[in-house]
Amino acid sequence: MKSSGKFGKYGGMFVPEALMPALEDLEKAYFGIVKKNRKFKEELNQLLKDYAGRPTPLYFAKNLSKKLGIKIYLKREDLLHGGAHKANNALGQGLLAKYMGKTRMIAETGAGQHGFATAMVGALLNIGTEIYMGVEDIERQKMNVLKMKACGAKIHPVEVRRGVGTLKDAINEALRDWITNIKTTYYLIGSVVGPHPYPSLVRDFQKVIGQEIKKQILAKEGRLPQAIVACVGGGSNALGAFYSFIQNPEVSLVGVEAAGKGLNTPKHSATISRGSDGILHGSLSKILQTKDGQIKEVYSIAAGLDYPGVGPQHSFLAEIKRVAYAAATDREAIEAFKTLSEIEGIIPALESAHAVAYILKEAKKYKKGDIVVINLSGRGDKDLETMERFYE
Ligand SMILES: *Cc1c(COP(=O)(O)O)cnc(C)c1O
Repeated sequence: MKSSGKFGKYGGMFVPEALMPALEDLEKAYFGIVKKNRKFKEELNQLLKDYAGRPTPLYFAKNLSKKLGIKIYLKREDLLHGGAHKANNALGQGLLAKYMGKTRMIAETGAGQHGFATAMVGALLNIGTEIYMGVEDIERQKMNVLKMKACGAKIHPVEVRRGVGTLKDAINEALRDWITNIKTTYYLIGSVVGPHPYPSLVRDFQKVIGQEIKKQILAKEGRLPQAIVACVGGGSNALGAFYSFIQNPEVSLVGVEAAGKGLNTPKHSATISRGSDGILHGSLSKILQTKDGQIKEVYSIAAGLDYPGVGPQHSFLAEIKRVAYAAATDREAIEAFKTLSEIEGIIPALESAHAVAYILKEAKKYKKGDIVVINLSGRGDKDLETMERFYE
Protein backbone atom coordinates (compact mmCIF):
# COMPACT_ATOMS: atom_id res chain seq x y z
CA MET A 1 0.00 0.00 0.00
CA LYS A 2 1.44 3.36 -1.02
CA SER A 3 0.33 6.62 0.53
CA SER A 4 0.51 8.77 -2.61
CA GLY A 5 -2.48 10.59 -4.03
CA LYS A 6 -3.87 11.81 -0.71
CA PHE A 7 -6.14 14.79 -0.12
CA GLY A 8 -5.70 15.16 3.62
CA LYS A 9 -6.65 11.69 4.87
CA TYR A 10 -8.78 10.94 1.78
CA GLY A 11 -7.82 9.18 -1.47
CA GLY A 12 -5.08 6.57 -1.69
CA MET A 13 -4.82 3.21 -3.45
CA PHE A 14 -6.88 0.57 -1.67
CA VAL A 15 -6.77 -2.16 -4.30
CA PRO A 16 -5.79 -5.83 -4.62
CA GLU A 17 -2.04 -6.37 -4.99
CA ALA A 18 -2.60 -7.57 -8.60
CA LEU A 19 -3.71 -4.09 -9.66
CA MET A 20 -0.75 -2.20 -8.22
CA PRO A 21 1.54 -2.57 -11.28
CA ALA A 22 -1.18 -1.15 -13.54
CA LEU A 23 -1.77 1.81 -11.23
CA GLU A 24 1.96 2.45 -10.95
CA ASP A 25 2.23 2.46 -14.77
CA LEU A 26 -0.68 4.86 -14.94
CA GLU A 27 0.87 7.10 -12.30
CA LYS A 28 4.10 7.19 -14.30
CA ALA A 29 2.14 8.10 -17.43
CA TYR A 30 0.22 10.78 -15.54
CA PHE A 31 3.40 12.54 -14.41
CA GLY A 32 5.45 11.81 -17.55
CA ILE A 33 2.89 12.27 -20.33
CA VAL A 34 -0.13 14.24 -19.09
CA LYS A 35 1.88 16.77 -17.08
CA LYS A 36 5.09 16.96 -19.14
CA ASN A 37 4.75 15.79 -22.75
CA ARG A 38 4.27 18.82 -25.00
CA LYS A 39 3.10 16.80 -27.98
CA PHE A 40 0.42 15.11 -25.86
CA LYS A 41 -0.81 18.46 -24.57
CA GLU A 42 -0.92 19.98 -28.05
CA GLU A 43 -2.71 16.99 -29.52
CA LEU A 44 -5.28 17.00 -26.71
CA ASN A 45 -5.88 20.75 -27.02
CA GLN A 46 -6.43 20.37 -30.73
CA LEU A 47 -8.98 17.60 -30.16
CA LEU A 48 -10.76 19.58 -27.45
CA LYS A 49 -11.03 22.50 -29.85
CA ASP A 50 -11.80 20.95 -33.22
CA TYR A 51 -13.46 17.68 -32.27
CA ALA A 52 -15.27 18.55 -29.05
CA GLY A 53 -15.94 22.26 -29.53
CA ARG A 54 -13.94 24.05 -26.82
CA PRO A 55 -13.98 26.66 -25.49
CA THR A 56 -17.65 26.33 -24.60
CA PRO A 57 -19.50 29.65 -24.23
CA LEU A 58 -20.08 31.42 -20.92
CA TYR A 59 -23.61 32.66 -21.50
CA PHE A 60 -25.19 35.56 -19.61
CA ALA A 61 -28.68 34.22 -18.83
CA LYS A 62 -30.57 37.47 -19.15
CA ASN A 63 -34.05 36.19 -18.40
CA LEU A 64 -33.04 34.06 -15.43
CA SER A 65 -30.97 36.98 -14.09
CA LYS A 66 -33.94 39.31 -14.36
CA LYS A 67 -36.16 36.82 -12.56
CA LEU A 68 -33.69 36.34 -9.69
CA GLY A 69 -32.25 39.86 -9.37
CA ILE A 70 -28.60 38.73 -9.63
CA LYS A 71 -26.31 38.10 -12.59
CA ILE A 72 -26.39 34.47 -13.67
CA TYR A 73 -23.94 33.03 -16.17
CA LEU A 74 -24.20 29.51 -17.55
CA LYS A 75 -21.04 27.59 -18.50
CA ARG A 76 -22.31 25.72 -21.52
CA GLU A 77 -20.78 22.24 -21.21
CA ASP A 78 -24.09 21.05 -22.64
CA LEU A 79 -22.82 22.28 -26.01
CA LEU A 80 -19.78 20.02 -25.97
CA HIS A 81 -19.69 17.11 -28.45
CA GLY A 82 -21.64 14.23 -26.92
CA GLY A 83 -23.78 16.67 -24.92
CA ALA A 84 -21.87 16.78 -21.62
CA HIS A 85 -18.56 17.56 -19.93
CA LYS A 86 -17.65 13.86 -20.05
CA ALA A 87 -15.93 14.29 -23.43
CA ASN A 88 -13.11 16.32 -21.76
CA ASN A 89 -12.10 13.33 -19.67
CA ALA A 90 -12.74 10.63 -22.27
CA LEU A 91 -10.59 12.44 -24.85
CA GLY A 92 -7.81 12.98 -22.32
CA GLN A 93 -7.69 9.40 -21.07
CA GLY A 94 -8.29 7.93 -24.54
CA LEU A 95 -5.30 9.81 -25.90
CA LEU A 96 -3.28 8.74 -22.87
CA ALA A 97 -4.19 5.10 -23.59
CA LYS A 98 -2.87 5.57 -27.12
CA TYR A 99 0.39 7.10 -25.85
CA MET A 100 0.73 4.18 -23.40
CA GLY A 101 0.44 1.74 -26.31
CA LYS A 102 -2.81 0.14 -25.13
CA THR A 103 -4.93 -1.62 -27.75
CA ARG A 104 -8.13 -2.01 -25.76
CA MET A 105 -10.21 0.29 -23.54
CA ILE A 106 -12.80 -0.66 -20.97
CA ALA A 107 -15.17 1.59 -19.06
CA GLU A 108 -18.08 1.36 -16.67
CA THR A 109 -21.21 3.36 -17.13
CA GLY A 110 -24.37 4.05 -15.15
CA ALA A 111 -26.60 6.34 -17.16
CA GLY A 112 -24.62 5.56 -20.30
CA GLN A 113 -23.22 9.07 -20.69
CA HIS A 114 -19.67 8.04 -19.83
CA GLY A 115 -20.00 4.84 -21.85
CA PHE A 116 -21.04 6.86 -24.87
CA ALA A 117 -18.20 9.38 -24.40
CA THR A 118 -15.72 6.49 -24.19
CA ALA A 119 -17.20 4.70 -27.22
CA MET A 120 -17.00 7.92 -29.24
CA VAL A 121 -13.31 8.38 -28.34
CA GLY A 122 -12.59 4.69 -28.98
CA ALA A 123 -13.96 5.14 -32.50
CA LEU A 124 -12.00 8.36 -33.03
CA LEU A 125 -8.68 6.91 -31.85
CA ASN A 126 -9.30 3.44 -33.25
CA ILE A 127 -9.06 1.61 -29.92
CA GLY A 128 -11.39 -1.36 -29.34
CA THR A 129 -13.84 -0.37 -26.62
CA GLU A 130 -15.89 -2.52 -24.23
CA ILE A 131 -18.40 -1.09 -21.79
CA TYR A 132 -19.66 -2.62 -18.55
CA MET A 133 -23.21 -1.64 -17.71
CA GLY A 134 -25.74 -2.90 -15.18
CA VAL A 135 -28.67 -4.84 -16.67
CA GLU A 136 -31.14 -2.45 -15.09
CA ASP A 137 -29.34 0.55 -16.54
CA ILE A 138 -29.26 -1.05 -20.01
CA GLU A 139 -33.02 -1.28 -19.75
CA ARG A 140 -33.42 2.34 -18.56
CA GLN A 141 -30.93 4.01 -20.93
CA LYS A 142 -31.73 2.53 -24.29
CA MET A 143 -30.70 5.55 -26.37
CA ASN A 144 -27.20 5.69 -24.90
CA VAL A 145 -26.81 1.95 -25.40
CA LEU A 146 -27.67 2.42 -29.08
CA LYS A 147 -25.20 5.31 -29.39
CA MET A 148 -22.42 3.17 -27.92
CA LYS A 149 -23.24 0.37 -30.34
CA ALA A 150 -23.30 2.82 -33.24
CA CYS A 151 -19.74 3.86 -32.35
CA GLY A 152 -18.69 0.22 -32.44
CA ALA A 153 -18.38 -0.49 -28.73
CA LYS A 154 -19.21 -3.85 -27.20
CA ILE A 155 -21.56 -3.84 -24.20
CA HIS A 156 -21.16 -6.27 -21.31
CA PRO A 157 -24.36 -6.50 -19.25
CA VAL A 158 -23.59 -6.84 -15.54
CA GLU A 159 -25.91 -8.89 -13.37
CA VAL A 160 -25.48 -9.19 -9.66
CA ARG A 161 -26.83 -11.75 -7.27
CA ARG A 162 -27.72 -9.19 -4.65
CA GLY A 163 -28.80 -5.69 -5.58
CA VAL A 164 -29.98 -4.45 -8.92
CA GLY A 165 -27.09 -4.26 -11.37
CA THR A 166 -26.17 -0.60 -11.60
CA LEU A 167 -23.06 1.58 -11.72
CA LYS A 168 -21.37 0.25 -8.57
CA ASP A 169 -21.55 -3.32 -9.91
CA ALA A 170 -20.35 -2.24 -13.35
CA ILE A 171 -17.24 -0.68 -11.78
CA ASN A 172 -16.47 -3.89 -9.87
CA GLU A 173 -16.79 -5.91 -13.07
CA ALA A 174 -14.56 -3.51 -15.03
CA LEU A 175 -11.90 -3.73 -12.30
CA ARG A 176 -12.03 -7.53 -12.55
CA ASP A 177 -11.53 -7.35 -16.33
CA TRP A 178 -8.60 -4.98 -15.88
CA ILE A 179 -6.78 -7.32 -13.49
CA THR A 180 -7.02 -10.08 -16.09
CA ASN A 181 -5.92 -7.95 -19.07
CA ILE A 182 -3.52 -5.42 -17.57
CA LYS A 183 -0.96 -5.50 -20.41
CA THR A 184 -3.26 -4.59 -23.29
CA THR A 185 -6.05 -2.76 -21.56
CA TYR A 186 -6.68 0.79 -20.39
CA TYR A 187 -9.43 1.32 -17.81
CA LEU A 188 -11.09 4.67 -18.49
CA ILE A 189 -12.82 5.83 -15.27
CA GLY A 190 -15.62 8.37 -15.71
CA SER A 191 -15.30 10.66 -12.70
CA VAL A 192 -12.84 11.90 -10.06
CA VAL A 193 -13.19 8.63 -8.15
CA GLY A 194 -11.26 5.34 -7.89
CA PRO A 195 -7.72 4.72 -6.66
CA HIS A 196 -4.86 7.19 -7.20
CA PRO A 197 -3.98 8.51 -9.77
CA TYR A 198 -7.54 8.61 -11.22
CA PRO A 199 -8.97 11.37 -9.00
CA SER A 200 -6.08 13.70 -9.97
CA LEU A 201 -5.95 12.55 -13.59
CA VAL A 202 -9.65 13.09 -14.24
CA ARG A 203 -9.61 16.43 -12.40
CA ASP A 204 -6.74 17.61 -14.59
CA PHE A 205 -8.71 16.71 -17.73
CA GLN A 206 -11.77 18.58 -16.42
CA LYS A 207 -10.07 21.66 -15.00
CA VAL A 208 -10.23 23.30 -18.43
CA ILE A 209 -13.84 24.20 -17.51
CA GLY A 210 -12.77 26.49 -14.65
CA GLN A 211 -9.78 27.87 -16.56
CA GLU A 212 -12.16 28.99 -19.28
CA ILE A 213 -14.70 30.38 -16.80
CA LYS A 214 -11.99 32.53 -15.22
CA LYS A 215 -10.82 33.98 -18.53
CA GLN A 216 -14.35 34.48 -19.84
CA ILE A 217 -15.78 36.16 -16.73
CA LEU A 218 -12.79 38.52 -16.45
CA ALA A 219 -13.27 39.47 -20.11
CA LYS A 220 -17.02 40.04 -19.67
CA GLU A 221 -17.21 41.53 -16.18
CA GLY A 222 -13.67 42.49 -15.19
CA ARG A 223 -14.06 40.66 -11.86
CA LEU A 224 -14.41 37.17 -10.44
CA PRO A 225 -17.88 35.81 -9.59
CA GLN A 226 -19.29 35.64 -6.05
CA ALA A 227 -20.02 31.95 -6.53
CA ILE A 228 -19.63 28.97 -8.81
CA VAL A 229 -22.28 26.27 -8.55
CA ALA A 230 -22.14 22.72 -9.95
CA CYS A 231 -23.91 19.42 -9.38
CA VAL A 232 -21.99 16.57 -7.72
CA GLY A 233 -22.32 12.89 -8.64
CA GLY A 234 -18.78 11.49 -8.58
CA GLY A 235 -17.76 15.12 -8.67
CA SER A 236 -15.86 15.65 -11.94
CA ASN A 237 -17.77 18.55 -13.51
CA ALA A 238 -17.80 20.32 -10.14
CA LEU A 239 -14.09 19.85 -9.48
CA GLY A 240 -13.35 20.87 -13.07
CA ALA A 241 -15.30 24.09 -12.61
CA PHE A 242 -13.94 24.80 -9.09
CA TYR A 243 -10.28 23.89 -9.38
CA SER A 244 -8.91 27.17 -10.77
CA PHE A 245 -10.75 29.11 -8.06
CA ILE A 246 -9.68 27.17 -4.96
CA GLN A 247 -6.94 29.76 -4.36
CA ASN A 248 -9.43 32.65 -4.70
CA PRO A 249 -11.14 32.64 -1.28
CA GLU A 250 -13.49 35.47 -2.33
CA VAL A 251 -15.22 33.06 -4.74
CA SER A 252 -17.61 30.70 -2.97
CA LEU A 253 -17.82 27.23 -4.42
CA VAL A 254 -21.04 25.28 -4.07
CA GLY A 255 -21.51 21.60 -4.88
CA VAL A 256 -25.11 20.41 -5.18
CA GLU A 257 -25.88 16.78 -4.41
CA ALA A 258 -29.03 14.82 -5.19
CA ALA A 259 -31.50 14.82 -2.30
CA GLY A 260 -33.81 12.51 -4.28
CA LYS A 261 -37.09 12.05 -2.40
CA GLY A 262 -35.60 13.94 0.57
CA LEU A 263 -32.49 13.77 2.77
CA ASN A 264 -34.56 12.26 5.55
CA THR A 265 -35.69 9.33 3.41
CA PRO A 266 -33.43 6.46 2.27
CA LYS A 267 -33.95 7.57 -1.35
CA HIS A 268 -31.16 10.04 -2.11
CA SER A 269 -27.51 10.04 -3.13
CA ALA A 270 -26.17 12.96 -1.06
CA THR A 271 -22.84 11.40 -0.16
CA ILE A 272 -21.15 14.42 1.45
CA SER A 273 -24.27 15.66 3.22
CA ARG A 274 -25.22 12.26 4.64
CA GLY A 275 -22.24 9.91 4.20
CA SER A 276 -19.41 8.75 6.45
CA ASP A 277 -15.77 7.79 5.88
CA GLY A 278 -15.19 4.48 4.14
CA ILE A 279 -13.50 2.75 1.24
CA LEU A 280 -15.22 2.27 -2.10
CA HIS A 281 -13.61 1.47 -5.46
CA GLY A 282 -10.05 1.86 -4.25
CA SER A 283 -10.07 5.08 -2.29
CA LEU A 284 -11.03 6.48 1.10
CA SER A 285 -13.78 9.06 0.87
CA LYS A 286 -17.26 9.79 2.13
CA ILE A 287 -19.60 6.98 1.16
CA LEU A 288 -23.20 6.02 1.84
CA GLN A 289 -23.07 2.88 3.94
CA THR A 290 -25.12 1.02 6.51
CA LYS A 291 -24.00 0.71 10.14
CA ASP A 292 -22.18 -2.53 9.35
CA GLY A 293 -20.38 -1.11 6.32
CA GLN A 294 -22.56 -2.38 3.43
CA ILE A 295 -22.89 0.07 0.53
CA LYS A 296 -26.40 1.53 0.49
CA GLU A 297 -28.69 1.52 -2.51
CA VAL A 298 -28.78 5.13 -3.66
CA TYR A 299 -31.30 7.01 -5.71
CA SER A 300 -31.82 10.15 -7.79
CA ILE A 301 -34.09 11.02 -10.68
CA ALA A 302 -30.83 12.06 -12.41
CA ALA A 303 -29.10 8.81 -13.31
CA GLY A 304 -25.69 10.52 -13.44
CA LEU A 305 -25.88 11.54 -9.77
CA ASP A 306 -26.88 8.11 -8.56
CA TYR A 307 -23.56 6.92 -7.02
CA PRO A 308 -22.91 5.93 -3.37
CA GLY A 309 -19.44 7.54 -3.30
CA VAL A 310 -17.82 10.85 -4.20
CA GLY A 311 -14.33 11.89 -5.28
CA PRO A 312 -11.86 11.98 -2.36
CA GLN A 313 -10.83 15.57 -3.10
CA HIS A 314 -14.44 16.64 -2.48
CA SER A 315 -14.43 14.95 0.93
CA PHE A 316 -11.28 16.93 1.70
CA LEU A 317 -12.67 20.23 0.38
CA ALA A 318 -15.77 19.66 2.50
CA GLU A 319 -13.66 18.94 5.58
CA ILE A 320 -11.60 22.13 5.23
CA LYS A 321 -14.81 23.99 4.33
CA ARG A 322 -13.46 25.39 1.08
CA VAL A 323 -16.47 24.06 -0.81
CA ALA A 324 -20.00 24.22 0.59
CA TYR A 325 -22.25 21.26 -0.23
CA ALA A 326 -25.97 21.71 -0.68
CA ALA A 327 -28.63 19.33 -1.96
CA ALA A 328 -31.66 19.58 -4.25
CA THR A 329 -34.55 17.14 -4.35
CA ASP A 330 -36.03 15.47 -7.45
CA ARG A 331 -38.94 17.86 -7.23
CA GLU A 332 -36.70 20.93 -7.11
CA ALA A 333 -34.62 19.64 -10.03
CA ILE A 334 -37.78 19.02 -12.08
CA GLU A 335 -38.91 22.60 -11.42
CA ALA A 336 -35.49 23.94 -12.38
CA PHE A 337 -35.50 21.84 -15.58
CA LYS A 338 -38.84 23.41 -16.51
CA THR A 339 -37.86 26.95 -15.54
CA LEU A 340 -34.59 27.03 -17.49
CA SER A 341 -36.20 25.42 -20.54
CA GLU A 342 -39.13 27.84 -20.48
CA ILE A 343 -37.34 31.11 -19.85
CA GLU A 344 -34.01 30.59 -21.60
CA GLY A 345 -34.82 27.92 -24.20
CA ILE A 346 -32.01 25.77 -22.79
CA ILE A 347 -32.98 22.25 -21.79
CA PRO A 348 -30.57 21.14 -19.04
CA ALA A 349 -29.66 17.59 -18.09
CA LEU A 350 -31.52 16.60 -14.92
CA GLU A 351 -28.10 16.39 -13.24
CA SER A 352 -27.31 20.01 -14.14
CA ALA A 353 -30.85 21.03 -13.14
CA HIS A 354 -29.80 20.31 -9.52
CA ALA A 355 -27.30 23.20 -9.76
CA VAL A 356 -29.96 25.44 -11.29
CA ALA A 357 -32.35 24.42 -8.48
CA TYR A 358 -29.85 25.65 -5.91
CA ILE A 359 -29.84 29.18 -7.34
CA LEU A 360 -33.63 29.28 -7.72
CA LYS A 361 -33.84 28.44 -4.02
CA GLU A 362 -30.96 30.51 -2.67
CA ALA A 363 -30.80 33.61 -4.91
CA LYS A 364 -32.00 35.75 -2.02
CA LYS A 365 -28.75 35.01 -0.18
CA TYR A 366 -26.92 37.07 -2.79
CA LYS A 367 -26.86 40.86 -3.33
CA LYS A 368 -28.01 42.73 -6.41
CA GLY A 369 -25.12 42.83 -8.89
CA ASP A 370 -23.55 39.62 -7.56
CA ILE A 371 -22.37 37.22 -10.25
CA VAL A 372 -23.10 33.52 -9.99
CA VAL A 373 -21.78 31.01 -12.54
CA ILE A 374 -23.67 27.76 -12.92
CA ASN A 375 -21.88 24.90 -14.59
CA LEU A 376 -24.40 23.43 -17.01
CA SER A 377 -22.76 20.00 -17.18
CA GLY A 378 -24.96 18.54 -19.93
CA ARG A 379 -28.03 18.81 -22.07
CA GLY A 380 -31.39 17.32 -21.28
CA ASP A 381 -32.44 15.47 -24.43
CA LYS A 382 -31.76 12.18 -22.65
CA ASP A 383 -34.19 13.18 -19.87
CA LEU A 384 -37.21 14.24 -21.92
CA GLU A 385 -38.85 10.84 -21.59
CA THR A 386 -38.46 10.97 -17.81
CA MET A 387 -39.86 14.50 -17.81
CA GLU A 388 -42.86 13.73 -20.00
CA ARG A 389 -45.08 12.75 -17.06
CA PHE A 390 -44.42 16.09 -15.34
CA TYR A 391 -46.04 18.02 -18.17
CA GLU A 392 -49.81 18.18 -18.67
C1 LIG B 1 -22.28 12.05 -15.46
C2 LIG B 1 -22.88 13.38 -15.34
C3 LIG B 1 -22.83 14.11 -14.14
C4 LIG B 1 -22.24 13.56 -12.86
O1 LIG B 1 -20.88 13.29 -12.89
P1 LIG B 1 -19.80 14.18 -12.18
O2 LIG B 1 -18.57 13.36 -12.20
O3 LIG B 1 -20.27 14.48 -10.79
O4 LIG B 1 -19.66 15.43 -12.97
C5 LIG B 1 -23.36 15.39 -14.12
N1 LIG B 1 -23.96 15.91 -15.21
C6 LIG B 1 -24.04 15.24 -16.38
C7 LIG B 1 -24.72 15.89 -17.53
C8 LIG B 1 -23.51 13.96 -16.48
O5 LIG B 1 -23.61 13.29 -17.63
